[in-house]
Amino acid sequence: MGMPRVALIGGGIGGLVAAIALRRRAIEAVVFEQSAQLQEVGAGIQITPNSTRVLRAFGLEEEVRRRGFEPGFMLTRDMATGEVLFRTQAKGVMAERFGAGWFQIHRADLLDILITALDGSDIRLGAHCLSIEPAVAGATVVLSGGRREAFDVVVGCDGIHSLVRATLHGQEKPRFTGNMCWRALVPAEALPCGHLEPVMNYWMGPRGHVVAYYVRGGALVNLVAVIETKDWVEESWSVEGRRDDLLSAFSNAHRDLRILLEAVRRCFKWGLFDRDPLPRWGKGRITLLGDAAHPMLPFLSQGAAMGIEDAYVLARELARNSNDIDAALVSYENERRPRTTRIQLAARAQGKIFHLRSPWARLKRYLRLDKFEKPRADLLSKDWIYAYDPTTA
Ligand SMILES: Cc1cc2nc3c(=O)[nH]c(=O)nc-3n(C[C@H](O)[C@H](O)[C@H](O)COP(=O)(O)OP(=O)(O)OC[C@H]3O[C@@H](n4cnc5c(N)ncnc54)[C@H](O)[C@@H]3O)c2cc1C
Repeated sequence: MGMPRVALIGGGIGGLVAAIALRRRAIEAVVFEQSAQLQEVGAGIQITPNSTRVLRAFGLEEEVRRRGFEPGFMLTRDMATGEVLFRTQAKGVMAERFGAGWFQIHRADLLDILITALDGSDIRLGAHCLSIEPAVAGATVVLSGGRREAFDVVVGCDGIHSLVRATLHGQEKPRFTGNMCWRALVPAEALPCGHLEPVMNYWMGPRGHVVAYYVRGGALVNLVAVIETKDWVEESWSVEGRRDDLLSAFSNAHRDLRILLEAVRRCFKWGLFDRDPLPRWGKGRITLLGDAAHPMLPFLSQGAAMGIEDAYVLARELARNSNDIDAALVSYENERRPRTTRIQLAARAQGKIFHLRSPWARLKRYLRLDKFEKPRADLLSKDWIYAYDPTTA
């Protein structure tokens, strides 16, 4: 028997990297994307060493390095006082310690890199998947307009609202995590000269935190400002936000952070949702990948990274077990589910660490993390996340 034919439902980062991974193994893949064009939100994304390694395996690391930004340090400050809590070296240390770099890149640039790598691939745009019908040795994709197409394997890469997940596991609303964020891109030239160091900037406050980093080689600053809130009242999860609301939510922030926030001209606000880890992902020849399988809070910067790792492992297992596809899908899930479950739960826990309320708890945090502040240290002890290498596992 030859290689299986795979349908990827969804052309986000997960679906596109899966298409690259499958193609590199000579497995035919068709991406069905409901939007009329491939697009990403106007924001940055962090590529941590674990996902850099996968992109390297596809020959894409250098392009990410060229178009992204590699921060020298992680700099963590108290949001109210501006006091530096930790300064942890990143550039060089990441590569030395984890064998791969840590980059920040505009999502549109990452998307462009992936699309270029997919040159000639079968990507169907405006292809809204209505349902998946399981069969004994495959599954049929049913598209709006009534078109049907049979595949050996169908993978739901269709994000947190996944139709494929609902097909397999029933409808269930995602969980509002009690956090919302504003996202914005600020031209570096809008800031006073030298205002923001070329580092990964964190400001930690009670009930909120802010992350700011450069993208596009330093031309733009990506800003994510998170606060805890009881309700997410907007109908949409992502809507245009009001600059005044952003400024008043951080009215007590230190002057340096205020200068950055005041430079925002346009922002979007997001409710942050996740889901509980699933006890099983796939059934028969249908499985899940990326946010469809394991949507998580962004506090460890691992959502897309997990989809990128999933993609590599899925393709590797299908190539290795092409004469037993069911076994391949079981090994894919067995390898990926424990790790993504752990990371989903760790991302929730990370929110609590970021947003500590009492001064005593914050002092304890400081003391606990302080011991990591060494030249080879990692601010939040993320070694187990970054050290994983699906390309050799
Ligand atoms: C504020 C914030 C910051 C983040 N920062 C990071 C970071 O620094 N690093 C990181 O690794 N992750 C980060 N993430 C997480 C990351 O953005 C997501 O995990 C990732 O984009 C999910 O990719 P995906 O392809 O699985 O899903 P999606 O990006 O949601 O893509 C799903 C695709 O499926 C399509 N689709 C849906 N339904 C259908 C259908 N029925 N038929 C056809 N197509 C369909 C959609 O149109 C979409 O294109 C962050 C998230 C947030 C909110």
